[in-house]
Amino acid sequence: MNPADMRQVVVSSAEDIRVERVPWPGAPGEHEVLVHSRLVGICGSDTHACAGKHPFIPLPYRPGHEVVGVVGQVGAGVDDLAEGDRVVLEPNLVCGKCRQCLDGRYNICRELAVFGCQTAGAMADAFVVARDRLHRLPEAVTDELAALIEPLATPVHAVRRAGVGRGSRVAVLGAGPIGLLCLVAARAAGAEVVVVTDVLPNKRERARRLGADAALDAADPDLVEQARRALGDGAGGGADVVLDCVAMQSSMTQAIELLDKGGTVMVVGIAAGPTTIPLHLVQDREIAVIGSLMYVRRDVLAAIDLLAAGAVAAEDLITATFPLDRAAEAFAASIHPDQVKVLVSVSADGAGSADGANGKS
Ligand SMILES: [Zn+2]
Ligand SMILES: [Zn+2]
Repeated sequence: MNPADMRQVVVSSAEDIRVERVPWPGAPGEHEVLVHSRLVGICGSDTHACAGKHPFIPLPYRPGHEVVGVVGQVGAGVDDLAEGDRVVLEPNLVCGKCRQCLDGRYNICRELAVFGCQTAGAMADAFVVARDRLHRLPEAVTDELAALIEPLATPVHAVRRAGVGRGSRVAVLGAGPIGLLCLVAARAAGAEVVVVTDVLPNKRERARRLGADAALDAADPDLVEQARRALGDGAGGGADVVLDCVAMQSSMTQAIELLDKGGTVMVVGIAAGPTTIPLHLVQDREIAVIGSLMYVRRDVLAAIDLLAAGAVAAEDLITATFPLDRAAEAFAASIHPDQVKVLVSVSADGAGSADGANGKS
């Protein structure tokens, strides 16, 4: 009844991204579910990986961790999901036994693996995964919106961990998908002022449309002064929290300069390597520099609620969708500065779709 094989995307390098025929995953085992992929997002970690620049994703790999799909079959012991249910994947695969897992911080499990990064992913016709890695989607969340759940869960976690709350003054460095969703998450957490920076004018424009109080040129020599003004710096302060989604030397230097005394720098972006931090200011101003990795269940559920409540529209962030057979074009598009979130669409018949990419941006 199931086909003998299916399509799966394999990334060997930025120039070598192809669709292979691989065996159909087979029936789900106990507490497992077979899911037919519908939409799969391309993440910053995917673009890093295909360029050979992701420290923890060796090539070749089989991508797909931001996936919305439909349950095809459930294994023994699964009684709360049924064929036809729409689901979203929570891709962190954890041991459940280490100290971090026992503390509820399973996003930093000592044995952490990410589905579609260290295991074969969901950019394929179907995949099998443990029931507890899936969340059922509410009616109010369309497939397109659901493709933003995983990307939004990361900012929801970062914002929560950074202590953003009612009245917070926040700066977000970098207006790519994660930066824009940090803006959305910070607002939802009650931030009073959110200032976004980016070097590209179209990204700044998008941040303004999404409700940034100011969107400033990260390359402007007066950036720090402008940002402090926009943050409402009457009393000589700065930001309570800076969310650094760029994670380069230039952004870290700006982050420290933008902070009020006692503030927090949250490292959200994937840094390429060691970065210099002015330790004398960290000490003298009681600055906290902390990191954030992925999310846990409560962050995913909060992201689902935010999207169901209309915190952001799918078309605000999804700028192109390509059929699975054109995954290589989707990867190429995803690094283009005009694109925000690029999706791969998997048609139900498994025969490849004739829809062209929608080029709206
Ligand atoms: Zn991702
Ligand atoms: Zn663990």
